[in-house]
This record gives sequence, structure tokens and C-alpha cells, in this order.
Amino acid sequence: MATRKNCPVCDNAFLGRKNRIYCTLACKSQANNERQEIKKRFENSVIATLVRNRAILLGVMSNRESFKVDKDYFEEEGYDLSYFTSLYRHRNELMMRCFEFGVSLSNGQLKIIRLKTEEPSIIEMHLEGVDKEFMDMLFSSRPK
Ligand SMILES: [Zn+2]
Repeated sequence: MATRKNCPVCDNAFLGRKNRIYCTLACKSQANNERQEIKKRFENSVIATLVRNRAILLGVMSNRESFKVDKDYFEEEGYDLSYFTSLYRHRNELMMRCFEFGVSLSNGQLKIIRLKTEEPSIIEMHLEGVDKEFMDMLFSSRPK
């Protein structure tokens, strides 16, 4: 049975079956394009943030294997600590991995190390027992 409804894209009233949402194929594909656009914009913004983080790391690390830097300075440079590619355990320390670098935070200082790329990330391992430490770390490193 046809029911009366309004198209969410153009707001035109139309008669259609219960499961029909859009008045025309054009409106249906416009809605789909907009969804794809939003999805792509979100993905691109995450990728852009990670790439910017990596560029900042490359800049400070140069040829160094490890480096310590003030967290506030790093954030002023545009580094976003809430974006990382995976988690990583280095010795007994939980680190945020950003591509080939590991970043950890203690006492307002970031410790950055260059990782061997073949080392597995903790995401690929068992997360049991890590959650509290993980949450503490994320919470303490979240930009204000
Ligand atoms: Zn429409």
C-alpha cells in the first residue's frame, strides 16, 4: 500500500511503498553521495592528522634514535596525542605508535623512540590487563 511521505533530500511530498525513502532515483543517489562524502571527509581528516603527527616527529627526530621533548611545546607545534596508529609495548612501557615512532608521556615530557618496523603492535596482541593502563595514559595525554 502506498503511503504519503516527504523526501528527506528535496522535501517534496510523494506516494510510495512503506520502505521507499526518496522521491526519485536522483534524490536517492544524492543522499548516497552525501553519505560517501561525509565518510571520505572523516577518513581524510584522520589520515591528515596522523600524517601531520608523523611530519612533526620526522622534524624533531632527524637521525636520532630517541628524543625527549616538552609535551606542551609539541602540542603547540600541532601534534595531536589523541591520534596514533597503534599501541606498542617497549620494555615495560606502553607507547603510542605513530608509524615508525613510539611516543610515551611522563612528567610533561614526551619520550620518542624510533621503532623497528617489524615489531608487532600491542593491538595485534592480547589486550587483557592493559585496559586500565591504556585508559590512564589516554586520559593523561589528552589535550586540554
Ligand atoms: Zn526528493
